[in-house]
Amino acid sequence: MVVALFTSASMVFGQTKIVAPENKYDVKEDVQAGREAAQQVEEQLPILRDDGVDDYVERVGARLVGGIPDEFRHPEFRYTFDVVNVSDINAFALPGGPMFVNRGMLEAARNEGEVAGVLAHEISHVALRHGTAQASKATPYQVGSILGQIAGAIIGGVAGQAISLGSQFGFGTAFLKYGREYERQSDLLGAQIMARAGYDPRDMASMFQTIQAKSGNGGPEWLSSHPNPSNRYQAINQEASQLHVTNPVRNTQEFTQVKSRLQRMAPAPTTEQVAKQGTRRTNGRTADDRVGQVDPPSGRYQTFDGGNLFRIAVPSNWRELQGNNTVTFAPEGGYGDYRGQSVFTHGLQVGLEGSNARNLRTGTNQLIQALAQSNPQLRQSGGYSNVRFAGRSGLSTVLNNVSDVTGQQERIALYTTQLTDGRLFFVVGVAPAREFSTYRPIFNRAVQSLQLNDVRSSRY
Ligand SMILES: [Zn+2]
Repeated sequence: MVVALFTSASMVFGQTKIVAPENKYDVKEDVQAGREAAQQVEEQLPILRDDGVDDYVERVGARLVGGIPDEFRHPEFRYTFDVVNVSDINAFALPGGPMFVNRGMLEAARNEGEVAGVLAHEISHVALRHGTAQASKATPYQVGSILGQIAGAIIGGVAGQAISLGSQFGFGTAFLKYGREYERQSDLLGAQIMARAGYDPRDMASMFQTIQAKSGNGGPEWLSSHPNPSNRYQAINQEASQLHVTNPVRNTQEFTQVKSRLQRMAPAPTTEQVAKQGTRRTNGRTADDRVGQVDPPSGRYQTFDGGNLFRIAVPSNWRELQGNNTVTFAPEGGYGDYRGQSVFTHGLQVGLEGSNARNLRTGTNQLIQALAQSNPQLRQSGGYSNVRFAGRSGLSTVLNNVSDVTGQQERIALYTTQLTDGRLFFVVGVAPAREFSTYRPIFNRAVQSLQLNDVRSSRY
């Protein structure tokens, strides 16, 4: 459902000047990330296919999209509006414009102005590019260059996070959890958009109160992903007083019709109930099908020379992919570019962590902690084993994660050792959980073949 843009002729004065946060991503990356995440959402959440309801939400949405100020318009963006047939009070927007409103949100709204309030707020997150702006300042770059690269390889950036979270129905909790500043910006821009579209921005504040009033058991999802900035209502109402809207749209006959239409339908399940039914299939496809055919590992091994630092033997059909301080070896179909980052689902990566660790265990713990920061699903599944490779002692452990690309469980074999100067050298083997027993011996064999050339005094 694509909504065409139209320009609003109304003039607004005295509004707060809003500046979109710094963003190092390209606008096209917003579009691509949002599109991929939206596909996942559509596969995993029940989309309400009811023309009466759909058309209505699209009309309200399109009217608001028309109110986006010129400086926040991106011709690449397509604002689309879908209703998710679940009872939780939630709504979320993905980068580039795909927007999802839960049926529970429509049922909770007391008038059209309140529906418009939620949509305007979410549209503002998209227009201000908050998703990628957040990614710009957050993981994986904060972890450090090398860790960042593995983090990127495992999780594939914030969109990957959204996808893996989406597969567990965590939308609206992490990817879409913004700080107070972004929430405040969206409140203010949302108010301006509402005014330009002929709605009363006070209805946004009123919708927040409506949501809060309904938060009896557990609190609605939307509020949990929208920390309530202090004096939020006052701030919106203050902005509203600067935006002069005459005869705002509030209650419409259409809204009343949609409400009674929803009442006649069978009650919607909760998101949790949907999650328990398992992954939804659309057109007989699962999320897994979108991954390329992965070449099975060759039984023949080939030795790669990693500059003057290391040598390692890996299956001869794996390709060598150079990173800054890492080298990834992966089969055809098992790696790719995902939002400008290298991602691999099968294969292994070797790398060097720049900082000196006090000892191997501490360094390894730090490595895992740093990885877990940017990979919320990452869990160490057992303790450490002492291993020997490259003529020195090392540690190995296994981690569980959810793949950014497939949304499926994957396992990570981590091997670490220290160079003579104290720096941590690591090998990360990644494979889907169900193929791990096939790949682990390959990882072990590769690690056993590893030679490190930092010990100049030793002769091998
Ligand atoms: Zn928000």
